Amino acid sequence: MDLLNTLVDKGLRRELPTRDEALAVLATTDDELLDVVAAAGRVRRQWFGRRVKLNYLVNLKSGLCPEDCSYCSQRLGSNADILKYTWLKPEEASQAAAAGVAGGAKRVCLVASGRGPTDRDVDRVSRTIEAIKSENEDVEVCACLGLLSDGQADRLRTAGADAYNHNLNTSEGTYGEITTTHTYQDRVDTVQQAQAAGLSACSGLIAGMGESDADLVDVVFSLRELDPDSVPVNFLIPFEGTPLGKEWNLTPQRALRILAMVRFVCPDVEVRLAGGREVHLRTLQPLALHLANSIFLGDYLTSEGQAGAADLEMIADAGFEVEGADTVTLPEHRAHVAAAGGCGSPGGGCGSHDAEDTAAQGAQGCGPCGSADQPAGPAEEPATAADARTDLVAVRRRGAGTDLAPNA
Ligand code: SF4
Repeated sequence: MDLLNTLVDKGLRRELPTRDEALAVLATTDDELLDVVAAAGRVRRQWFGRRVKLNYLVNLKSGLCPEDCSYCSQRLGSNADILKYTWLKPEEASQAAAAGVAGGAKRVCLVASGRGPTDRDVDRVSRTIEAIKSENEDVEVCACLGLLSDGQADRLRTAGADAYNHNLNTSEGTYGEITTTHTYQDRVDTVQQAQAAGLSACSGLIAGMGESDADLVDVVFSLRELDPDSVPVNFLIPFEGTPLGKEWNLTPQRALRILAMVRFVCPDVEVRLAGGREVHLRTLQPLALHLANSIFLGDYLTSEGQAGAADLEMIADAGFEVEGADTVTLPEHRAHVAAAGGCGSPGGGCGSHDAEDTAAQGAQGCGPCGSADQPAGPAEEPATAADARTDLVAVRRRGAGTDLAPNA
C-alpha cells in the first residue's frame, strides 16, 4: 500500500504527513487494519523499541468541579455516581502513588478536579510532590491541576514536578460544543506556560465524542504544533449521568486506526494509551501496544481499569517489556530538548523539524478521562453507532479516597 510505505518513511524521518494522508489512515478498511498496525508499529519501534512505559494516576480531589466539560463525570451537574472527595493529604497521596510505583509505574500523575489551582492548592500539591519524591527518588511526577495562573508552573517545577498535563481534548472548531466554561485557547496557554517553566508537557485528546475524522486530524495536528513530549489518547468513557453518556461511537478497529494516525503524525513522541482502552479496544488491547509506547496501570480517575497484574501479563504476552526507571523514555534528540527547557524550543521536537534537520538526524477528567467501523470513503462520512457496552463502565470504588487497596 503506497500510503503506508509513505507514512513509514516519513515517520522514520520524523516528517509530518499531509492532512490527506492522516485522513486516509482513518478511512482504511478492516481488510487493511493489520497492515496499518504493522506500518505504524515500525515507526513506534524505531523510536521506542518494544518498551512500554507505565504511568499511575492518583486522583487528589474528585468530583464537584464547577466546569462543564461534557465528557467528564466530575463536571458541574454530573449525576454519575462517582467518588467525591476533597484534597488528599500529602501522605495519603504518597501512599497511593507508592502502590503504582510498586506495580512498575515510572510516572505518577497527580490529578485534581477543578478549573485550576489556587496558590494554596499549589502549595498543597508541592508538599505532595515532595512527599512522593522523598519516598521514590526516581519516580517522575506529572501534575494535572487544570488551568494555570502566572507563576504556578514555575512553582510546581521548583517543587520537583517533572511534567504537566493539560489535554486539548478536541479540535478548536468543536471545542465550544464540548465545554463552555473555558476555551480551547485557555488550554493551549496552560500547556505553553508549562513548557516555558521547563516542565515536560503532556497534552492529548479524547476520541469518540461524536467528532468527525477531520476534527480528529485537526486536534492531532494542533498537538504536533504545540509539541508536547507525551500525547495521551483517551477514548470516551460514556458515563451515565453526563451529556455524552449515550455516545458509543467507537469500535476496537476504529480505536486502532486513531492510534495509528497519532503515531504517524507524532512519530517520536510518547503516545500513551489512556482512558477507555478496556471499554473500546477490549480484546484488541494488545495490538495497541504496537502503536502506543505508554499506558496507564490500573484504575483511572473515576472509573475502574483492567487490574494492574493483567496489564503486566498483557505486555509480556504481546512480547513487549516494561520500561525501567533507568531508561530515558524519549529518543535522544527529544530528551535533550526536554532537558533544555521544553518541547517547542526552536529546532526541537515533534512538529518543529525542518527538512534538512530531519534528513540529518535520520526521530476523563482534567487528565485521562477518559463508530462502528468506518468504511473506506469520504472521511467526513458519519460513523454508524457502535454497540453500547455499558457493562464495561465501572465506577472506581477503591484506591485513592477510599479505605480499599488500589488496583495497581
Ligand atoms: S475535565 Fe477537569 S475542568 Fe473539565 S469538568 Fe472535568 S474535572 Fe472539571
